[in-house]
Amino acid sequence: MDINKKTVKDIDLENKKVIMRADFNVPLDDNGNITDDTRIRAAIPTIKYILENKASLILMSHLGRPKGVVKEEMRLTPVGKRLSELLGIQVKKTDDCIGDDVKSQVSSLKSGEVLLLENLRFHKEETDNDEEFAKKLASFADIYVNDAFGTAHRAHASTVGIAKFIPAVSGFLLEKEIYFLNTILKNPERPFVVVLGGAKISTKMGVVTNLLEKVDSMLIGGGMIFTFLKSRGINIGKSILEPEKEVEAFEIFKKAKNEEKELIMPVDVIVADEISENAKTKTVDVNQIPDDMSGVDIGPKTIKLFKKKLQEAKTIIWNGPMGIFEIDKFAHGTEEIAKTVGSVKATTVVGGGDSVAAIMKFKLSDKITHISTGGGASLEFLEGKVLPGVEVLEDA
Ligand code: ADP
Ligand code: MG
Repeated sequence: MDINKKTVKDIDLENKKVIMRADFNVPLDDNGNITDDTRIRAAIPTIKYILENKASLILMSHLGRPKGVVKEEMRLTPVGKRLSELLGIQVKKTDDCIGDDVKSQVSSLKSGEVLLLENLRFHKEETDNDEEFAKKLASFADIYVNDAFGTAHRAHASTVGIAKFIPAVSGFLLEKEIYFLNTILKNPERPFVVVLGGAKISTKMGVVTNLLEKVDSMLIGGGMIFTFLKSRGINIGKSILEPEKEVEAFEIFKKAKNEEKELIMPVDVIVADEISENAKTKTVDVNQIPDDMSGVDIGPKTIKLFKKKLQEAKTIIWNGPMGIFEIDKFAHGTEEIAKTVGSVKATTVVGGGDSVAAIMKFKLSDKITHISTGGGASLEFLEGKVLPGVEVLEDA
């Protein structure tokens, strides 16, 4: 898979109207205040570039899951205010994302000005990738820019449908995501080590299968290990299990052996009698998990083993926490792995909502080469899938 798409730098923007899909799906508190504006800030470089190059800009995004109806608390008004502050210019906002009022506001938009359209998902045509709806969005502009990596795995009107009608290119954020994930998967500096964790094996099986072929070593932790262990007849007590994935898990061991890939499972785990901060815990070897306890974190021998592999690596991808890290008592393995990934001299990429949350929690974000912003999108990329929102962009 080779991905080389045009960006805003490859087209003439002067006096053009540009419509850009951004990911302004920010968390809001009960009073409608933005509690984390990272996603808005992430779009600023592309926005500034477009404005500096004398285009007028129409921004669009979804927020939450209004499911095709207007939900007052999901209006983009707070996003518009924040954008105005960050850009230092007045960002106008419409009350809808299509219709006559939007049309007239778009037609009076001058170069250097920004108009923010209302939440796209107030219309169910957005997620349906409805062609007429996409055409209406496209009719507002000469050029379409996608800078929303987080929704690039979804074929929606604003991510896919629209590209049929006007020239479509990527913004800087999307470009960066594709660059890191794509170059690493295509040509990693070796040793290439992947660390996978998280709760469910079913959400990661595609990633395990696709990446196993490319890596030198794959380290597996988190809740998914127990399905692997069970598939080899090891007693896992009350640990999380997906019985319907046991056969596939067993096949992975065979695949690793056949392809001479190092597939490393924990040798010891922390077990707990309940999932809480007050739990009684102990460290046991993986083949000694008591019947009435569950595995909640990787153990010290495993941490040592994983650290050694990570310290030898030149490229690392990490996805999925090593334990139930939301509970401090079970966060040690995740913290140690996060710190190691943050300290090694390697190209490091972290993807996945919870893994990125762990990186933030341990204040390591500036120590990672690339933090992928789109949880679902980065996972699908790692599974080797073509992201529809990327595919439709013009080839460079
Ligand atoms: P990401 O969002 O980084 O892709 P996932 O969503 O796949 O990660 O997994 C994160 C979840 O996995 C966390 O909520 C964490 O509590 C859970 N988890 C990790 N280890 C275990 C375990 N041993 N048992 C149950 N859940 C676990
Ligand atoms: Mg998650």
